[in-house]
Amino acid sequence: MLVAVPKEVYPGERRVALIPQTVSALIKAGLEVAIEAGAGESANYPDKDFEAQGARVELDRHSLLAQADIVLMVRGPGSYPDFPAADLDALKEGSTLISFTEPLAQPEIMRELAERKLTVFSMELMPRTTRAQSMDALSSMATIAGYKAVLAAADASPKLFPMFMTAAGTITPSRVFVLGAGVAGLQAIATARRLGAVVEAFDIRPAVKEEVESLGAKFVQLELESGEAQDSGGYAKAQSEDFYRRQQELMAERIKHSDVVITTAAVPGKKSPVLIPEEVVASMRPGSVIVDIAAEKGGNCAVTKPGEKIIHKGVIVIGPLNISAEVPVHASQMYAKNISTFLLHMVKEGKLELDLEDEITKGALVAHGGKLVHQAVVDALGK
Ligand code: NAD
Repeated sequence: MLVAVPKEVYPGERRVALIPQTVSALIKAGLEVAIEAGAGESANYPDKDFEAQGARVELDRHSLLAQADIVLMVRGPGSYPDFPAADLDALKEGSTLISFTEPLAQPEIMRELAERKLTVFSMELMPRTTRAQSMDALSSMATIAGYKAVLAAADASPKLFPMFMTAAGTITPSRVFVLGAGVAGLQAIATARRLGAVVEAFDIRPAVKEEVESLGAKFVQLELESGEAQDSGGYAKAQSEDFYRRQQELMAERIKHSDVVITTAAVPGKKSPVLIPEEVVASMRPGSVIVDIAAEKGGNCAVTKPGEKIIHKGVIVIGPLNISAEVPVHASQMYAKNISTFLLHMVKEGKLELDLEDEITKGALVAHGGKLVHQAVVDALGK
């Protein structure tokens, strides 16, 4: 079976779905691998390195996609509005696509893929279980985003992060507040701590308190009645407008006195809750920085402009999009590991064999046999 890796075409996308080091494992499993010429270039993986590991390099994208039995991408259909129609038309009936696809936000596109008789796996739907950990691309990318967000904040801040005791006096450390302590938030905490900042964090899931503290940050307790904060999968549940208003009020003082705020709060399949209203931004000292990683899903801060760095009443507000693509070497390395482990999980003797009873295979499967097969995506379509 031929596994194809086209070059990513989304503007600014520098990642690639496979790197040379992952090719040999696929070949050993009895698969053939072909990449589009230049697929890894923007992530610093030249064609010749793929070839050295046994991959073929194809010049013609259409022909590559048309031959493929399995297509691996970072940003597949659904993950951005202008996904090339020519790519979709090129994919052959019965072939399998594995990529990010935003299935809950774009259920109509998932239905179209099903109607085209494609088998589609969404990397976003990978179960967050111990067994699937090595295939969990959301966690990989969130780790990078949390790290990079702190570097962006440190770079934009007019202050130093660490404490310095110098002959020219003592510099007090920056105060960093991390909102949302999931994978990205925890990495943001760790990175800010490594840079020497004093870090506080809040999450509506009280379960993360220990993790926050183990990284040397203070877990902020807010008097909030969240009822059930998380679902059975460990994800945060959406809360009422009243709840978010109360949360905004309780956090206002804390944010006002922070030099840097990193926001990562997300609820799967929903727009991110607005947790920092305009007046709270305006209350911060000039030169304070907010990096809103939730910008891709609307943002946690009311003044965030997704994809932009703005100055609002003296406060620098950064709304990064596709932040993990800014670290393409390691983002691709991690993604390639995740996607190839997942693929190999389903390959037996050089053939793709779907065990629809397997929780990992079933969990990530969106479309198969001409139908939408993932209940959450079917439900999203009905909404
Ligand atoms: P996410 O990106 O969906 O959300 C980021 C964080 O925002 C979460 O911690 C969430 O609780 C928090 N949040 C939501 N609303 C908030 C609010 N109003 N105020 C403050 N914080 C708010 O989360 P994620 O990083 O993808 O992690 C989700 C869950 O998955 C966690 O329980 C995590 O431990 C779990 N997980 C498990 C595995 C595994 O076992 N393999 C891997 C990764 C993540």
